Amino acid sequence: MTLQLIDNPPPWPNGARCAVCFAFDFDAESLLHLFFPDDAQRHVSFGANLRYGAQVAMPRIIKIWEHFNMRQTAFVPGWCVEKYPDVIRALVNGGHEIGHHGWLHERINQFSREEERTILLRGIEAIEKVTGKPPVGYRAPSNAFSEHTLDLLLENGFKYDSSLGGHDIPYQMQGRSGQRMLQLPYDISSDDWAQFVHLDDAEHNMPIRAPERAFEVYRADFDAAWKYGGFWTSVWHPFASGRLARADAMINLIEYMIDKGDVWFAPLHEISAHIDGLIARGEWSPVVEHLPLCDGPEPQIARPSR
Ligand SMILES: [Zn+2]
Repeated sequence: MTLQLIDNPPPWPNGARCAVCFAFDFDAESLLHLFFPDDAQRHVSFGANLRYGAQVAMPRIIKIWEHFNMRQTAFVPGWCVEKYPDVIRALVNGGHEIGHHGWLHERINQFSREEERTILLRGIEAIEKVTGKPPVGYRAPSNAFSEHTLDLLLENGFKYDSSLGGHDIPYQMQGRSGQRMLQLPYDISSDDWAQFVHLDDAEHNMPIRAPERAFEVYRADFDAAWKYGGFWTSVWHPFASGRLARADAMINLIEYMIDKGDVWFAPLHEISAHIDGLIARGEWSPVVEHLPLCDGPEPQIARPSR
């Protein structure tokens, strides 16, 4: 008998073995302005690579999803929503979800609660203008989820976040108010920055891997999710994973998943609605994590160095 490595995995629709969402963070040149807030105009090469993500890669990814009749999720900074309305409309027309990803990819844990709130509202407004409805999903830019983020998301009607890696399966986060919201977790092993991103300007230089090597990592995580009833989502970026050879490898991975069978492909907002429904009907109980994880520094006998 197979050991069950996930305690109490949620039931998935139609008896599926696992849920999958290819989620892209459509950052485009928001990263240029994040890294070079004072002289972005001087970094043309960096900007061109990022713009490729918006102009070439995202339409290509939409084409792939359409080919496989999949609806998935793109997290988009509000600034990018306004800069690339045609791409956003193509996503919306394809039935894909637009999730919130800041305004200009701010690292929000560097700011006050009020500043974080202003950024959140500006991003909501930009998405609502194009899609006609506010976003229900959030992914913190640069993983900079702050001690205020959950409470602000709850105040603004969000249904889920997908920034944290606290479990293999969806779980609930409980904020200071006692209200709860879903976390649809991912692991850094499904983030393409660790595999492909080599950008001097971003001071992030990974040795470029062959797509097959990187996709071995993604496939292993998917296989384990399938085996144990879990959940797999990606943190991929159009400028990195939408390049030709990697987009081709993505097609191979989707075909592999389809051939394996019993996989539920869905945008994250549908996965979150499914899980919330199970909880509301008393059909499944999630793990609950209280946030923030700590209130501040702990007294230390001697201060360790990193
Ligand atoms: Zn991002």
